[in-house]
Amino acid sequence: MSLTIIPAGFFHSDLSVLSPEAPRGRRLRIPVYTYLVRTKDSLILFDTGCSHRCRTDPAGLLGEDAVPLLTPVLTPDDHISAQLRNLNLMPLDIDLVVNSHCHFDHAGGNEAFTNNAFGIQEAEYRAAETDRATYPDLAFQPPGPSRLTLFSGDTELAPGVTLLFTPGHTLGHQSLLVELSDRAVLITSDAVYTRSHFSVDRLGAAKDPVLARKSLKRLLKLAEHGARPFFSHDPEQVRAEGWKLAPFEYA
Ligand SMILES: [Zn+2]
Repeated sequence: MSLTIIPAGFFHSDLSVLSPEAPRGRRLRIPVYTYLVRTKDSLILFDTGCSHRCRTDPAGLLGEDAVPLLTPVLTPDDHISAQLRNLNLMPLDIDLVVNSHCHFDHAGGNEAFTNNAFGIQEAEYRAAETDRATYPDLAFQPPGPSRLTLFSGDTELAPGVTLLFTPGHTLGHQSLLVELSDRAVLITSDAVYTRSHFSVDRLGAAKDPVLARKSLKRLLKLAEHGARPFFSHDPEQVRAEGWKLAPFEYA
């Protein structure tokens, strides 16, 4: 089994987007990632990054007011379809596309997977269907029922590849635990934005802060027990901790 961390562009972001209590005015360059897990007999993609429209029409997608606070810095090569091509893969090679949640920077690249099987938490699916304020861009275009699996709670996708239900950031958010040969890697997704958010005293943007804190505590416990966390939007983590990005495969 292996895990590849795929870079999927950047945002110039105001710190207040990541930390709602922070004053406006401090700018950060925050990364976006997707993750490819290769099991014995399947390829699983966790998150799909941003859509083409996020690059070509950010104001139309995110709203005029949002763009100054969260400015996409994307090239065509950041799209998941291009990143897969760099790995000599086509969208149809992916056996299962899973979204941690349905925000535009995690499900925007779903547009590349027109005939693939998808998996998502049922709670997220229901929220994305009904809550247009939180999911304005319809990043998650639900495939027909024959291509969609709705998970409820923790779900083992393959031996050593487990979705962890970590609601709070959104109502159906999930993280991913990949148990590699030497160590488990914990893909937090937006349950934890950055290393500095990985503390009980801190919380990123959360639809339900009580649930978010509970999920955060759960992930902290897993890290205490040896899982190596990888955060969704940390500007420093890759360099500071020496993580290797695609095409490197953690095995
Ligand atoms: Zn995000």
